Amino acid sequence: MQRKRIIKVKDKSFTISISERALKRQIKRVADEINRDYEGKNPIFLAVLNGSFIFAADLLREINLACEISFVKLSSYEGVNSTGTIHELIGLNTNITGRPVIIVEDIVDTGLTIARMLETLKGHNPESIDICTLLLKPSKLQVNLNIRYCCRQIPDDFVLGYGLDYDGFGRNTKDLYTII
Ligand code: 5GP
Repeated sequence: MQRKRIIKVKDKSFTISISERALKRQIKRVADEINRDYEGKNPIFLAVLNGSFIFAADLLREINLACEISFVKLSSYEGVNSTGTIHELIGLNTNITGRPVIIVEDIVDTGLTIARMLETLKGHNPESIDICTLLLKPSKLQVNLNIRYCCRQIPDDFVLGYGLDYDGFGRNTKDLYTII
C-alpha cells in the first residue's frame, strides 16, 4: 500500500524520512552484531518505554541468543523539546546483578536520559552495559556516551513514528517522519 509522504499530527506536519524497510534493514544489521558479540552469553535487554516498544519488538525477533527483556520508563521530553529534567516513572524490577545488560532506546538526543540510566544501572553491579539505539542525533549530544549499537544517525530535527510520538500521538506509523 502507498504510504502518505506528508502527515499531520495535532498541530504539526511531518514528511517521510526513513522507510520501514530501511529501518528494518538497519535493525537486522545491529541484531547480527549483537548475536555475534554476545555469543555464549545470556544478555538482558532493558527497553526504555514508551518510544522503544516497536524497535524492541523488531530487534528481539532478530536476536537468536537465549535472552530476556524487561522494560523501564523514563521521560525528559515535553512536546518537541527536551526539558533536561529526567523523571523516573517505572523503575527496574529485574535482578541485573552479574548480568550483561543491553539498553534498548528509541533515540539518543542530548544523551541525558541514557547517562542518568547508566548511573542507576551501575549501582546494581551488572557484568556489563551496552547501549543500543535506533536513532542518534550526534549534533545534540551533551554527554560523552559510548554507543556501541546504533541503527541510524539523523540530523537535529524532531522525528515521529515507528514508536516515537509527538505529544502522545503518531507512534503508530510504520515509517519514520521528520517535522516540517
Ligand atoms: P535525551 O535525554 O537523549 O535528550 O532524550 C531522549 C528521549 O527524548 C528519547 O527517548 C525520546 O523519547 C525523546 N526524543 C528525543 N528526540 C526526539 C525526537 O526527535 N522525536 C521524539 N518523538 N522523541 C524524541
